[in-house]
This record gives sequence, structure tokens and C-alpha cells, in this order.
Amino acid sequence: MQKKFTKKQAQDLAKRLSKKSVLVWDKLTRAQTGEAMALAEDYKRFLDQGKTEREAVAALVSMAAENGFAFPGKKGRGLCMPVSSKVLALYLPGKESPMEGLNIIASHLDSPRLDCKQNPLYECVDLVFLKTHYYGGIRKHQWLARPLAIHGRIVKTDGSYLDLAIGEDPDDPVFTILDLLPHLARKVQANKKLFEAFDAEKLNILLGSMPLGPDDVKDRFKLAMLHLLHDKYGLVEEDFLAGELEVVPAGKARDVGLDRSLIGAYGHDDRVCAYASASALFAQKTPRYGCLALFFDKEEIGSEGRTSAKSRVLEHFVEQVLEAAGVDASGRNVRKCLYRSRALSADVNAALDPDYQDVHEKQNAARMGYGVCVTKFTGSGGKSGANDASAEYMGQVRKIFDKNKVIWQTGELGKVDIGGGGTIAKFLAAWGMDIVDCGTAVLSMHSPFEIVSKADLYMTRQAYSAFFADCAPMEDK
Ligand code: MN
Ligand code: MN
Repeated sequence: MQKKFTKKQAQDLAKRLSKKSVLVWDKLTRAQTGEAMALAEDYKRFLDQGKTEREAVAALVSMAAENGFAFPGKKGRGLCMPVSSKVLALYLPGKESPMEGLNIIASHLDSPRLDCKQNPLYECVDLVFLKTHYYGGIRKHQWLARPLAIHGRIVKTDGSYLDLAIGEDPDDPVFTILDLLPHLARKVQANKKLFEAFDAEKLNILLGSMPLGPDDVKDRFKLAMLHLLHDKYGLVEEDFLAGELEVVPAGKARDVGLDRSLIGAYGHDDRVCAYASASALFAQKTPRYGCLALFFDKEEIGSEGRTSAKSRVLEHFVEQVLEAAGVDASGRNVRKCLYRSRALSADVNAALDPDYQDVHEKQNAARMGYGVCVTKFTGSGGKSGANDASAEYMGQVRKIFDKNKVIWQTGELGKVDIGGGGTIAKFLAAWGMDIVDCGTAVLSMHSPFEIVSKADLYMTRQAYSAFFADCAPMEDK
């Protein structure tokens, strides 16, 4: 028989036994709030420097150099290992041998965007355009009628590189994709389903409108643009073939809200986690175990290709880690090191959207301001395509976060049969390492202007610091 409780006793019991959600702002001291605000300023600078995976790698490489990291074979406190200017690993040695396994935090640097096609240039009704092919999960209508910038690299026939970023400086021109006047959209768009209303082949970038020569010159608007591109950059039309031009929203990261508590920017997914992991790594003194921060490319298109988490570039990184430690970098040792490693898949999760709460299961949705979000499993439907962390590993991560006073929450991506998605976690898990998703909650995710909370950024950074410092080999390994 259960004993009878008074109201007071029941309330005390609830206090002791029930799980509580903690709002980060309620817990931060004045000094910590100052730190969170300062961290956000530094993060915004990183966002502005790195709007593509290539630029983000360059920004991280220079931050690594400032923090004493050096390329393999050179002397430094850590290793900086960029590959193809698009994927990067940063390694800080620990007191123990890397054969004890590494503490790994893995994020991605690519974001949804519009890529220029290889034969992009054309004129139409006396206007010049670039054709695009979208990359990653975008909602096409969000890219219309807004200022856009063109970033990327073109390799010329003489082998030299042309690196472009047009549309970011206040004096730069910007680009745009045209949209239809509402009066004219009724028939062609208004009654269609959203997915059908916006045609990918109509996501063309407006480039110019001035002709070259008299009006009997063929394609004289396109010719004027080719002339300009040649004059200014030494380009000919064929050079687009060896180009990677990425069209992204123009403009800098901005504070959002009168209280400046939020950051609005393109590409928080996943540069918020990338930044937080780099910042946490640089701040480590001498950790017990080796710390590896990985920054992959191509996550938004399923982690395919040589710069992705699915590629074997990870083995290449671990070989260099072992070599630097004077350990035989055999395949067997690389596999053993990875098998014994512990990892966080540092990726964002969708925060509970106030206007669309129905797509979330509120009891298990991440919320803005409630700290870093741990996602035990990803996947969709019946966890198809998931990485599902073990109870033991969740226990290990919880212990580390609680010990270090990290404010954290858990979150699933939407209701069971409505949402779902994958991250790079499962590709690293294939090596036998323990891994769980852990990152910042985002509103308006995958849009040109995503929102994160400065409090959550701060807690993400704290979580990653704690993980690098205190994670240790699992007992069964
Ligand atoms: Mn992501
Ligand atoms: Mn994404």
C-alpha cells in the first residue's frame, strides 16, 4: 500500500523527482552573460569570413595558426590538416597516447545554397543571367527577390586561381533572382502546391542589363558581360567550366531583437557548431586525451564525395595524428584508434517553432535558450537511417555535462512520422566509435536567415570544452 501524501509532501516529491528544463538566461551570472555576448561577436566575425565551406576552412586555418597549430611536419602545439581547401581536421595532443582513442567533435561547413551551372551565362529579354543548380535542402521561394552574393573559385587555363566574393562589401553590387508580381502569380503559382509553384530552372541570377555595340550585334548583352568579366577578372566564358561559384544570401550576420539576444545569419547550420568546437579546442591547455575537431563538407547532400564524412579522408587524418605521436600509422592502428574514440556529431537541431508547434512533439523538441541540444538518435520513421547512441554513452556524456555545469536539453527533429533527418554521426559510428549528436537549436533552419540564441551558442561552446577535457574511453573498450 502506498502511503498517503499531503499536498506539501507531494510538491516536495515533485521537486526532487521531476525533470526540469533550465533556461540558460536564468542561470548565467552577469560575468557569464558578458562572456556569451563577447563569444557571439567573435562568432559573427567567423560567419562573415566563411560563407562557403572553402572560406570557412580558410578562416579556421588562420584561427588555428594564431593559436599555435601547425601543418604536419612543422612545429606547433597542435596539427592543422586541411584537404582540398574544403575539409579540415585540427588535432591537439593529449597526455595519453592517441591509441587510447581520441575525443572527437565533428561538424560540417557546407550550407544549402545555389551553385552556378558549368555553362551558366545567357541573355533573355535584354537582361543577362547565370543559371544555377541548388545544393542541399532549400525552400526555393526564400531565395527570390533578395540581395545575393557570389562566392567561389575559378581555376584558369594557366592554373591560377581566381577567388571571388562579390556582394558583401557595402560598395559591391549584389545579385538577385526575380519574382513575380502577386497580380500575375494567380494563374501560374497561387493555386499550385508549394513544391510545384517554384521551378528550379527559374532560379536564375540577374547579372546585368547593358549592351555592347549596335543592336544588330548578336547576344550583345551577354557579350557585354563577357567583356566585363574579361576586363575585370581575365575570364573567358569557358573558364566557368572549372569554376565553383556559390550563390549565397548577401550581407553580414546580425543581432536580432531589441535585447540583442539572438543572431540571424546565413549558415548557422552548421557553422555554429564548427565555430564552437574550434573555439573550445583552442582554449584547451593540455587535455588528458588527444582532441580532434573535424570539419566536413558535403553533409547537406548526403555526405558523398572525397571531402565528406563518408569518405576515407578520416583515416588520412588519423594516420597523421599517429605519425606525429611517433606511433606506427598502420591500418590496424588507425582502426583501433577510431574504434576506441568517443565523438560528438556537432550538428544543429530544429528549435520549437512558435508558429508551427504542431510539427514538433513538444515534450521532445529542442527549445531556444534551453542550452545545447543532445539528440540520442536521428533518422526518420522507425529510426531508419539513424545513429542511435547507447544508454552507456548517453550516461557518459550526461556525467561530463553535469559535472561541468553545462545546461543541456534533448531534442528530436519533429514528430515521429513527420520530421526526421540524418547527420554525419552514422558515418563515424561505422568505425565502432561511440558518438551522439550534440549541437545548437536553430529557428528558420535551412533558410537564408537562420536564428540561434546567444545563450545556446555559449552553452554549446561550454559543452564542447567539457567533452574535450573530460571524455574518456568507454569501459567496454
Ligand atoms: Mn547540419
Ligand atoms: Mn542542414
